[in-house]
Amino acid sequence: MKAFEATTRFFEIAADQLGIESDIRQSLLMPSREMQVQVTIERDNGRLENFVGFRVQHDKYRGPMKGGLRYHPNVDLDEVRALASLMTWKTAVANLPFGGAKGGIGVDPNTLSSREIERLTRAFVDKIHEIVGPDKDIPGPDMGTDHRVMAWFRNQWEKYYGFNPSVITGKPVEEYGAKGREEATGRGVGLLTHKLMKRLGANSNETNIAIQGFGNVGAHAAKFLDEAQFPIIAVSDISGTYYRGSGLNVRALLKHKLEHPRGLLEGYQDCEKLPADALLELGDVHVLIPAAVGGVITEENAEKIQAKVIVEGANGPVYPIADYILHERGVTVLPDILANAGGVTVSYFEWVQNRQHYRWTLDRVRSELEHTLSDAFENVWQTANQHSVSLRTAAYMIGITRVQRAGELAGFA
Ligand code: NAD
Repeated sequence: MKAFEATTRFFEIAADQLGIESDIRQSLLMPSREMQVQVTIERDNGRLENFVGFRVQHDKYRGPMKGGLRYHPNVDLDEVRALASLMTWKTAVANLPFGGAKGGIGVDPNTLSSREIERLTRAFVDKIHEIVGPDKDIPGPDMGTDHRVMAWFRNQWEKYYGFNPSVITGKPVEEYGAKGREEATGRGVGLLTHKLMKRLGANSNETNIAIQGFGNVGAHAAKFLDEAQFPIIAVSDISGTYYRGSGLNVRALLKHKLEHPRGLLEGYQDCEKLPADALLELGDVHVLIPAAVGGVITEENAEKIQAKVIVEGANGPVYPIADYILHERGVTVLPDILANAGGVTVSYFEWVQNRQHYRWTLDRVRSELEHTLSDAFENVWQTANQHSVSLRTAAYMIGITRVQRAGELAGFA
């Protein structure tokens, strides 16, 4: 199943609950604008190379569109379209005054030098600068891009339009970035896992956690949950699964990640090593946090997952058919559009600070993040109970209702 078909399926289930007519569904589902561009750079060896870049602007009824830039070999129009629509529902569930967008380039950034990535980013801005801007569409980081890419993007865009750091978020903290942006998604995943387990009546120190992916999201989620006394018994990255039934030493894992090439856990000793995909099906795991890539829980492995709770750190890790199987088996899934909304929430705080030329402390960022996510969580939890639907369907119902209302007020124009 393609990524956009999967997000559309989740949308349809919630739209059925809400009784939305087909013409309104079409209007809510269809992206507002899709741009595909050729991005050509000179490689360090003097040869030209062409890449394909995308920006999909899904919906703008609730405000300027917002969504990350992904540099990954799998980036294509369908994936970007799916991620752009997820951003529309995510910003709406978190009640941020934004619409949804997403962009990316089909490239493996590990095969390019830093100077080549800079040239690629600047060439991409040259192609899409007219459709982005602080009141139009505000990109941010995603897989394969970081604060350096955001700084190059901003610098190139400002060559056309002059100083305006609010054109992009996820910038370096000393260059108009927000304190706490880097940790925000993983911290939000941790905060919401904690909240959910409290609601389910579980004690943190008796709740074993497994995290797939030890990148930005996975590592920060592990740090937060470890500090909240949850035993993290397994983490994985592309080099394998690192398992210890009595709980891993998360501080040592974070140190290893910092000190090793590409932030990988390869060579970490103080635990058992298993294949990367073994993490999903471990028997003594209570909460599984997929925080790596999309499409990892499928019809094939949904029955084998032992965890009773799944918190979607990644975007789109569970396919609709797998979601159905998990629901039937009584597994609680906290959906991506709520679980990983911490990143876009702090991006919103960064945009606000840039526009006010004012800087918040880390404490303020963290407390406003908690406030925003707690409100969103309570709303989703109550809607799920009121309508006897899953947390995912409840989150979509809230997001769709808010976007539909904004669309109606705008006359769907
Ligand atoms: P990242 O590139 O920093 O980390 C990805 C991690 O996943 C790495 O440790 C990598 O080794 C690992 N990985 C990749 N494939 C794997 C596999 N098959 N098995 C095990 N591990 C694997 O990326 P990130 O920023 O942490 O993003 C992770 C996910 O979270 C993505 O789906 C992204 O769209 C989503 N997300 C990220 C943010 C953010 O602010 N970074 C916000 C919202 C959603």
